[in-house]
Amino acid sequence: MPTTSDFERMLRGVSLRVTRPRVAVLSAVHDHPHADTDSIIGAVRTGFGGVSHQAVYDVLRALTTAGLVRRIEPPGSVARYEARVGDNHHHVVCRSCSAIADVDCTVGMKPCLTASDDHGFAIDEAEVVYWGLCPACSTAVPEHTV
Ligand SMILES: [Zn+2]
Ligand SMILES: [Zn+2]
Repeated sequence: MPTTSDFERMLRGVSLRVTRPRVAVLSAVHDHPHADTDSIIGAVRTGFGGVSHQAVYDVLRALTTAGLVRRIEPPGSVARYEARVGDNHHHVVCRSCSAIADVDCTVGMKPCLTASDDHGFAIDEAEVVYWGLCPACSTAVPEHTV
């Protein structure tokens, strides 16, 4: 479990000044993988007290740009954030409740998939979203059979 000094080191590592909101947001994203902005704001306020919505938005943008946080946005979902960066892992999303889980890169390194036609592009990333039902939703008894 990373500590406050680990987060401070991460911020310095990407040349970001260490501020309380930045440490708070980074810590919240580590604690709540794939959380949306509202959940992160809630977690930051619980742990650190008064931080404005705008401050959290700004910090998330700065952390994403710096590469400390990855922003994912499955179609039909709000943006989610996670601290697991740099490994090009993929996500499985529940169609029913929007739960998200990590799926490791299928061959261990980017870009995982070879395009049938790369159109001359130097491809360095493939983004895959697996869709389905999570265990809780797939075992739920449909109402009409009760
Ligand atoms: Zn579900
Ligand atoms: Zn993830």
